[in-house]
Amino acid sequence: MHNPFDILNQPISQRMITGLAKICTALRSQAWQGAESQGLSPTQGRILALLQSETETGMRLSAIAAGLATTPATASDAVSSLVKKGLVSRDRAADDRRAISIRLTPEGLHQAKQAASWPDFLLDAVEALSPEEQTVFFKGLTTIIQTLQELNKIPVSKMCLTCHYFAPHVYDDPRRPHHCNLVNAPFGDRDLRLDCPEHLSAIDGSNPAS
Ligand code: SF4
Repeated sequence: MHNPFDILNQPISQRMITGLAKICTALRSQAWQGAESQGLSPTQGRILALLQSETETGMRLSAIAAGLATTPATASDAVSSLVKKGLVSRDRAADDRRAISIRLTPEGLHQAKQAASWPDFLLDAVEALSPEEQTVFFKGLTTIIQTLQELNKIPVSKMCLTCHYFAPHVYDDPRRPHHCNLVNAPFGDRDLRLDCPEHLSAIDGSNPAS
């Protein structure tokens, strides 16, 4: 039997990881259910949702694999299945005729919107937090994501914290202390972006989508 004092002394960081793991389990379960109802695999659904943010240019297979944190072979198999289902197409990339760009078809776009809504079951739980709790939670999430990106544990996303245009804490206003040099406007922690199409890497000037 556990010593109750050991349990009470368990660090909050450990309990946060337990909580995150429970949320991940719920997300995976929901993804399986959503995928099944759409006749897809969870990987296929995630590819459709990923392509939704790049409807004009499409994405290279390597970028899809990186975005899903999976191998090119796994991504290639899933894309081939999606091509057979008529949900994506493989075309010559507009900026490099030797490269192949993968794009959503009109039916693929319809299915992608459904796949992107699989995590929406969490909305009620998130909205149960007060606006202040949401802001603190969100800021913590962005910091965790940034750290995991720096450790190469998750795919690089187009977030403000890694953006060339991001100027943190340049204003005294606690509600809007940051500045986006692209749109030349102040903004607060609540407005930090995790998937901004205009993101430019602060490290090498690249856009993770390309
Ligand atoms: S361009 Fe986008 S990612 Fe970069 S700082 Fe502005 S809002 Fe954030």
